[in-house]
Amino acid sequence: MFRAQKRRVVSRSNVNLGAEVGREQNYPQRLNLYLTPPLLEITLDQFEEWAIDRLRVLSEIETCIFSNRTFKQIEASIKPLLDEYLPLAPNSSTKSSKLLDDERRKDHYSHFILRLAFCRSEELRRRFVKAESILFRLRYTTADVSEQHALLSQHDFGWTQVLEDEKQELHDAFIFATDTAAAPSEKSVTGESYFKVPFERVPELIENRRVLLKNGDAYVPSSLQFSLVLSEFSEHLDRALETTARALPRLDEDDRLVPILNQLSRGFIAPEYNPENTSSDFGANGAIRAEQVDALVQHFPLCMRSMHQALRRDNHLKYFGRLQYGLFLKGIGLSVEESLQFWRQSFAATTGEDKFNKEYRYNIRHNYGLEGSRNNYRPQGCQQLLNSSAPGPNDIHGCPYRFFSEDHLSSALGELGIRDRGMLSQIKIDVDNKQYHVACTRVFEATHKMLPHVKMTVGTGVGMESITHPNLYFDRSLRMARESKAAEKVEG
Ligand code: SF4
Repeated sequence: MFRAQKRRVVSRSNVNLGAEVGREQNYPQRLNLYLTPPLLEITLDQFEEWAIDRLRVLSEIETCIFSNRTFKQIEASIKPLLDEYLPLAPNSSTKSSKLLDDERRKDHYSHFILRLAFCRSEELRRRFVKAESILFRLRYTTADVSEQHALLSQHDFGWTQVLEDEKQELHDAFIFATDTAAAPSEKSVTGESYFKVPFERVPELIENRRVLLKNGDAYVPSSLQFSLVLSEFSEHLDRALETTARALPRLDEDDRLVPILNQLSRGFIAPEYNPENTSSDFGANGAIRAEQVDALVQHFPLCMRSMHQALRRDNHLKYFGRLQYGLFLKGIGLSVEESLQFWRQSFAATTGEDKFNKEYRYNIRHNYGLEGSRNNYRPQGCQQLLNSSAPGPNDIHGCPYRFFSEDHLSSALGELGIRDRGMLSQIKIDVDNKQYHVACTRVFEATHKMLPHVKMTVGTGVGMESITHPNLYFDRSLRMARESKAAEKVEG
């Protein structure tokens, strides 16, 4: 399936995807159920690049799911990414047939490459199926009817067409069996065609009382056919991922593929915010001094604000807190010298100079890649902090929306000025649903919406940015405050 330095590295023999390698494939239509694996070799660069492009789209879908967006909102967020990274034009487009084929090939191959990366655990499989199903739904529902028919004719789903006699016999049952709000009219039953499928294949339609159930069969009108297609798509993908997972150990022999696949599966989180690409002048190493930190706390997310408060209260912070907060401060622009200064002064009341140099200096320099393995560590993102282990007694680190008790969280929110009952209960719902970064985004909205003359870009609404990184929170907060101040000056 793909080639690097003239050597085939993935083939039927080592991933067992059930296809004959080397045979040219055509793509007469753009919608794909991904029932057959790719057959041709591609280069290592294409392998990586195509997978990363698809991953950008799936990661954004996952961010939208986290943010509880509706399908319409997801569609609006994903469209620009699809146009840029994974375009898939219809046959009616003015693009050349070669270009159409290239787009379809990239879509086909990238799907199968990511199967290799995301078949490795149940959790990854579940998330991949969910994101891919949304992508499929998006494409299917925006395709025209002839494209949909062409796709369905590719595969025998085992649905049984209900004949006219049986339809007449069940005429009244079709009307009365469904929920009154969704019940078809006499006229629509007459003009409708129905399929019979085993009831367990359409659990959503049954749960919402959208179909007639009889003798273990669900009678699905063609207007609801998409539910059937989607459930076939998800089930097939789920089974295929399990099969791939069983075949995967054979791939471990290829020492060029495995690191790429590991890297890809680690990348299946909301796109990581890179403080080096910050829009403010903060984030550049050396942009701030130790003594400015207290004045900037108003722009910190709750996790960093809580650690700063604990540091000021106890004149100390335990190891994981120092690591999390230290990297965050590095991300907003504290140089290693300023960082040493900041921690030395913060610990001064409890720790003498000798002890500080002996016990803490090394770790601070280590964060900046100046000791040990000399990695230039990046600030930790929300996903990493949410997955970290819970802080022990007298310890403070991780995400407060996840680790604070209900009382502790509501008093911390009170300190931020959030006392509105409706807002507090909405944040509680987010926390109960384990959507911690949605709660954090909501808090950003509530604490910044009163700033005059600036447009909110962070929020839970359509097309708005979600908080996925503490340094993103800081950057957007500071930017809004500055824009607001500048606009006030112009007005004044
Ligand atoms: Fe910090 Fe992220 Fe939690 Fe917000 S969601 S408090 S930025 S870890």
